[in-house]
Amino acid sequence: MSLPAAPPRLTRLELHGFKSFAGRTVFAFESGITAVIGPNGSGKSNISDAVRWALGEQSHGALRSKRTEDVIFAGGSGRAPSGMAEVAVTFDNTSGWLPIAFSEVTVTRRAYRTGENQYLINGKRVRLREVAHLTASLGQSHTVVGQGLVDAALSQRAEERRGLFEHAADLTGLRLKAAEAERNLAETETNSARLMDLLTELEPRLKTLERAARQAREWKGVQDRLHALQRGHYGRLLRVALGHLTTVSEVAAAGTAALNRGREEVDRLVAAVQVARVAAEDTRAVLAQQDARLQAVLDQVRRIGHERDLAGERYAALTRRREDMAYTQTGLDEQVAAVTAELTGLAGNLAAVEADAVTARATV
Ligand code: ATP
Repeated sequence: MSLPAAPPRLTRLELHGFKSFAGRTVFAFESGITAVIGPNGSGKSNISDAVRWALGEQSHGALRSKRTEDVIFAGGSGRAPSGMAEVAVTFDNTSGWLPIAFSEVTVTRRAYRTGENQYLINGKRVRLREVAHLTASLGQSHTVVGQGLVDAALSQRAEERRGLFEHAADLTGLRLKAAEAERNLAETETNSARLMDLLTELEPRLKTLERAARQAREWKGVQDRLHALQRGHYGRLLRVALGHLTTVSEVAAAGTAALNRGREEVDRLVAAVQVARVAAEDTRAVLAQQDARLQAVLDQVRRIGHERDLAGERYAALTRRREDMAYTQTGLDEQVAAVTAELTGLAGNLAAVEADAVTARATV
């Protein structure tokens, strides 16, 4: 197997809520050597811890912590503790070294105070196993030499130092692959042993099995025949049932049509009743008006009758009065005649007196 020429290069590290890095902090690594300088306790080792952690480190010892919560920013310098730690490591994979079809690969790890850990590769949730598979191929190209490791390596015995050199030479990745291949081999061996066992077990039963197979074939033939007969029988039943269904459907359709006609008739009658109701209301109103008018006419008739009775009485009284006056007039006429006669006598007397006077005057 030939490996690609250029190993992937760490280009970017982003921390948020990880150990002493409360706010979002981004390191962009240019080509060449990058040195991070600062006083003791300022957080330099936390940066390399972050790289290890994001790449799936499971040993708390290697991360200088006791439990998951220890890597989450615990608060300080006036800042509240974080609920989550997140570290994202980005590699330039244009050479295609990492076994993933992206020219840039970002591995992200998150941890919550509940102890839950999440892993993402290029923003997609993955399992730790997938991160381990990806980083195994990084082995040849990176080694994290933590604080004190150089001292420890120099003071270790040769065989103790082996682990460090194996890791540096990417033996870890190869070991992972070898272990996987061994696991697969063991599995295949177990499977072939089981097959041999089965063969040994089945051989003596071959004759019985052949008889059983023949019987099974016969049974299959009988079953096919049964299925064919059943198909014919149920097909006939189905045709009869379909005929019934057609008849019933036609009856149902006729019933539905009659029902619709009945409904239309009912609607028409309801409309006619409504019209009749309106007409009855109008007639009732007209009748009420006529009643009122009749009552008024009867009142008028009663009033006129009363007036007629009064006029009759008044007429009788006037008749009586006229008779009285006629009687009185007769008396007065007689008196006038008597007075006129008396007047005529007096006028005769007056003329005699005047003649006597004239004679007397002449005598005088
Ligand atoms: P030295 O050179 O002495 O090793 P350093 O610069 O490498 O120092 P680190 O050991 O990386 O520093 O950082 C230690 C600092 O990180 C300490 O101040 C410690 O309080 C802080 N720290 C570690 N874990 C957390 C956490 N969970 N929350 C807040 N601060 C933390």
